[in-house]
Amino acid sequence: MRTRNGRQRQGHSLRDDLDQSIVLGFKMISDLSSGMDYLSTQGITLPRGPENFDVFLDVNDRFLVSINPPTGANAAHQEQDDAGSVWTLFNGLCQKVLRWANRVLYDEDIERTPAVFDSSLSPAILQPSPVAPRDQAIPSNHVEAPSVPPRREFVWRTMDVPQSLVTIATRLARDLDLRRVSINRLARSDGGSIHRCPGYVREEVTLATRTADSAVVSHDAPTVQEVCYVCHEVVNSGEVFGCICSQKEPGLRPTVKCRSCKTWSHMDCGPISNERICAICSESSGLPRGHPLKTISLMVLSSPSRT
Ligand SMILES: [Zn+2]
Ligand SMILES: [Zn+2]
Ligand SMILES: [Zn+2]
Repeated sequence: MRTRNGRQRQGHSLRDDLDQSIVLGFKMISDLSSGMDYLSTQGITLPRGPENFDVFLDVNDRFLVSINPPTGANAAHQEQDDAGSVWTLFNGLCQKVLRWANRVLYDEDIERTPAVFDSSLSPAILQPSPVAPRDQAIPSNHVEAPSVPPRREFVWRTMDVPQSLVTIATRLARDLDLRRVSINRLARSDGGSIHRCPGYVREEVTLATRTADSAVVSHDAPTVQEVCYVCHEVVNSGEVFGCICSQKEPGLRPTVKCRSCKTWSHMDCGPISNERICAICSESSGLPRGHPLKTISLMVLSSPSRT
């Protein structure tokens, strides 16, 4: 099936080759804007939702749009009425195709809010990252950093102001011809996360209708419901942090989860045994001590996961 091949192609390029996946992403945007513009100017009544359309990647690497007309009682309510709806439909379709590609790779449906990267953002939060940020994100004092590539996802960014589909198609086709489709790379630290496995990097290939509004945004911690590719655990919202250093939050440092009490602590605060048993559990089970356990914060001892 051509549809499935297209999804797999896009998904696999995302995994294997960042530059190629960016080019393929813009190719999709260019072809879809051109295709949707054509359909909307042909006097064809377009159904409303992106679920009524399919997108194929043909043998010449062209993305083609097909309509699956809605049937039954819904059909009457689903007609396209104005230019604003075509813009909404176009964005919905781009988002749908990029989600297909993500699903091929991860089999997860995770909703991402696209990063907004304009000049109003604090540079401390969002920093230009000219080289691959992956190497920077791995603490140099850590030997367990995995050698697997980062988790990459497509994220669609809908711009607030509707744009002309013809202009989008023409501009992107020209950029693709001239091979001018490079986009910024930004690094973002997810400081609120407790689950901070060392070496984790998620690159969100955030695409919009213009290359200037697009960027690869790197994150250094997984989000809730995601399967962390470092520890292979599903990240859940009830994780507890407690460390012998008495800090209440992990900050930006890598953390590790104790197999016994399920509490996360700083990787480099130690001691945590090779079996991933934290200092507190080692103490209570009579294993050798390595730390002044009297300084352990009460927050850890009274945390719900230890009762
Ligand atoms: Zn993890
Ligand atoms: Zn600590
Ligand atoms: Zn423990």
